[in-house]
Amino acid sequence: MASQIVSEVTAANDAYVASFGKKSELALPPARRFAILTCMDARLDPAKYAGLSEGDAHVIRNAGGRASDDAIRSLIISHKLLGTLEWFVIHHTNCGMELFSDEIMADLLDDSLATASFDGKNWSNPQHGGGCSGGHFIKWHTIKSQEESVTQDVKRIRSHPLTPKNIPIYGYIYDVKTGKINEVPEATAAGRAA
Ligand SMILES: [Zn+2]
Repeated sequence: MASQIVSEVTAANDAYVASFGKKSELALPPARRFAILTCMDARLDPAKYAGLSEGDAHVIRNAGGRASDDAIRSLIISHKLLGTLEWFVIHHTNCGMELFSDEIMADLLDDSLATASFDGKNWSNPQHGGGCSGGHFIKWHTIKSQEESVTQDVKRIRSHPLTPKNIPIYGYIYDVKTGKINEVPEATAAGRAA
């Protein structure tokens, strides 16, 4: 028997398919030729906050919207094979990545793989046992300050040898209280095209 969520998702998809229409004719390369790297946070909907329709732009998401090796891999493909010409890095206020450190995450996993709980200050495991030490070998790309992390990520992408000099990279912070994206001037300045 399918889970409740699977039933909901497939029912929603049935409705989407029924009104799919002209979207069957969309081209593979993004029509508006830009890409957004942003956080996976469930409150963020890049299609809505940035006005995207299917086929418009690439959206690359991970925890924090960080410029990880894999995010950079996607951006390079986005430009080199699919023609995007401008990139955004959009982090956000109240990001979960501000709430832990590499050490906290590794220690939690070491103790148990089950979902931890957060009391507003500290993380703890409701259950103990069955953990794994592998978390100590991963860099989790946590965040101390959004301004800092956006700037750091724009700089990392800018200075990557596979990033073409003529692509501007813009840094923004999405405000979860208002839905507004606010530019981080230092980041955008660092991401200027040459
Ligand atoms: Zn986040």
